[in-house]
Amino acid sequence: MKVFFRELTLSTKELFDLVDITREVEEAVSESGVSNGMCLVYAPHATAAIVVNEHESGLMKDILRKVQDLFPRGAGWLHDRIDDNAHAHLGSALISSSRIFPVRGRRLVRGTWQNIFLLEMDGPRASRRVVIEVLGE
Ligand code: ZN
Repeated sequence: MKVFFRELTLSTKELFDLVDITREVEEAVSESGVSNGMCLVYAPHATAAIVVNEHESGLMKDILRKVQDLFPRGAGWLHDRIDDNAHAHLGSALISSSRIFPVRGRRLVRGTWQNIFLLEMDGPRASRRVVIEVLGE
């Protein structure tokens, strides 16, 4: 079994932001040498998440709006007593910091309208990491 590991470093520009990493993930799969297996995309952060959906500017704003509706900033969260970012921890915990994709024929299996994004909820940040691990044969 092959195990291929890559770490991306990227920056985010807003408090809530979506950064499309589809191309980088697909490049990692293609360079991994794995024909059939799976690809983990993981954000090693407690205040960010990985989401999958269409890269359309209106929808991206809709997603960010919904995330802020679901996890409003400064809504009396207890964690805000020490760190002022409880909303982002809640979003990361409930949306999830990872996604897994099938790999078939040396390609990531995804729908036409399924791009992969880092969801920032405590930005802007100069440095956010995304771990990509491709496993298979
Ligand atoms: Zn915190």
